[in-house]
Amino acid sequence: MKKILNRLKVGLGNKWWLFNYKLRELKLQAQFYWLLYRGSQPLDVNQKSMIVFSPHQDDETFGCGGVIALKRERGIQVKVVFVTDGGGSHHGHPRITRSEIVEIRRQEALSSLKNLGVEPQDIHFLDKRDGALHRMTEAEKQQTIEEMAELLSNFQPQEVYVTHKQDRSKDHEISYELVNAAIAKSGLTVDLWQYAIWLLWDCLLFSNLKFEDLAGAYRVSIHKVQSKKKQSIETYRSQYLPIDAQTSALLPHGFLWRFFLPYEVFFNPEYLSKEEGRGKKEAVQSNVDSNSTAIFDN
Ligand SMILES: [Zn+2]
Repeated sequence: MKKILNRLKVGLGNKWWLFNYKLRELKLQAQFYWLLYRGSQPLDVNQKSMIVFSPHQDDETFGCGGVIALKRERGIQVKVVFVTDGGGSHHGHPRITRSEIVEIRRQEALSSLKNLGVEPQDIHFLDKRDGALHRMTEAEKQQTIEEMAELLSNFQPQEVYVTHKQDRSKDHEISYELVNAAIAKSGLTVDLWQYAIWLLWDCLLFSNLKFEDLAGAYRVSIHKVQSKKKQSIETYRSQYLPIDAQTSALLPHGFLWRFFLPYEVFFNPEYLSKEEGRGKKEAVQSNVDSNSTAIFDN
């Protein structure tokens, strides 16, 4: 294999980088389609209320925009919590200040979510510093967990969505940890769903990502709201378009296509065992009920 690659490298000359680039794109697509059609199980959107924790202003729409829209169309309660202020996306830009970018992203988030059916009173901004969750002191961490737990206790959601625990972004991975701690603190029993933003960007599945790391993957069809999700993604202009003539777009080329597909993928390794547990409980309950009817019948 190495020999073949070396020959190709010599043969292609300065087109080698292009070949490499295309190869990477192909691997990425293969990885994603494998996950979509082979590595995941189909799941229907349910009637459960949901809260989405989003590290930055766009992750919620990329990762869960379809499910949010489908649930809102059915009148199901949905809340969204932004963990950071999003102010790190144009760090060091000569003309746009940090507070300007925070405000731009906040407005984009409000528009995107309005389009998905979520009103401002159901959107919360925790305003932690973007890109710095891993540098929080223990006290700041506890404070954040406290704020998240309070939101959970007040809302009492049945489902919680947060970025994948191995999402290849510090803010995303720490958001997962914080949300987990907040759920424990709130004492709620919820279904915890992880959504992937950066996890599938690298060709990890064929290198250092193990198959079991992608366990408990489910795909939800979002055909019905696909165009609504597309519109919402397009409200995040500061992220997918150059913010001015001198700056290139932030999101890398080839990153967005998977979020335009008619499916969303979520991970919940405990879902099946929990569902089985619930099924058993219901069966026991109906048994008890039928026994009590029988007693009354006698
Ligand atoms: Zn993010």
